[in-house]
Amino acid sequence: MPKVAVITGASRGIGAATAKFLAAQGFDVCVNYLSNSVAAQAVVAEIEAVGGRAIAVQADVSNEKQVEHLFAKVELELGPPYALINNAGILFQQARLSELSAERINRIFAVNVTGSFLCSKYAAKAMSTRTGGAGGVIVNVSSVAARLGAAGEYVDYAASKGALDTMTIGLAKELADDGIRVNAVRPGYIYTTMHADGGEPARVERLKSSVPMQRGGEPQEVAAAIAWLVSEQSSYSAGTFIEVAGGR
Ligand code: NAP
Repeated sequence: MPKVAVITGASRGIGAATAKFLAAQGFDVCVNYLSNSVAAQAVVAEIEAVGGRAIAVQADVSNEKQVEHLFAKVELELGPPYALINNAGILFQQARLSELSAERINRIFAVNVTGSFLCSKYAAKAMSTRTGGAGGVIVNVSSVAARLGAAGEYVDYAASKGALDTMTIGLAKELADDGIRVNAVRPGYIYTTMHADGGEPARVERLKSSVPMQRGGEPQEVAAAIAWLVSEQSSYSAGTFIEVAGGR
């Protein structure tokens, strides 16, 4: 039986690359998305075209009812999840502290932090060896912003990734006894459309000379690190972080 992986925010960018990477390794994958069903179906079609198995499931990860429905649908259509990739994440227009509103900060935390907690909760319920599950892995997609701070651009986003890092450490300890390994990746400047949401589609081009490797990263390079943390190759790693940031 193929193992099942749930990737949140997999219609585009790093999530889409990870869904395709894990499918190529033999996983059946759930491509979660928020609203872009055309993009999500395209990822599913690409996986199916090379003989893989995938389903697209719409769910806002910040909404507990929708997350519950997401995992029920995965269990029904693919089987119990072995891997959860908490990849869905958002940021808004670049802004300084004086321009941040409670509404903006709360939405970022709701998706990036609460969403990752909720997905972990329902995934762990299905995975836990203490309740008859087969164990599993959770990989959180953090950011180097968690340790650099993103001053003048999105400190709110960076702080949400700091919270995700703390969640990674805490859940790695809490869930080790359930047969679940929890780790994270911290990408740097990666070529995706997320930068357009911050108001600067060409942000990676502007900043790449500040990277020791002098270039931005590709989503597939992040997917490869995630896949290693999912694999048995990392069987003794928990509560750890892989930086995928060109040495920044
Ligand atoms: P992206 O291209 O903007 O894609 C975001 C994905 O998240 C889309 O699939 C989107 O679905 C989904 N999404 C957004 N809100 C959601 C919600 N509430 N519930 C479920 N899905 C939701 O992002 P990306 O650049 O690939 O980033 C992926 C992750 O990597 C994020 O956590 C981000 O913080 C992190 N990261 C990115 C970079 C970078 O340079 N790109 C650097 C460091 C860390 P729709 O298509 O339906 O909108």
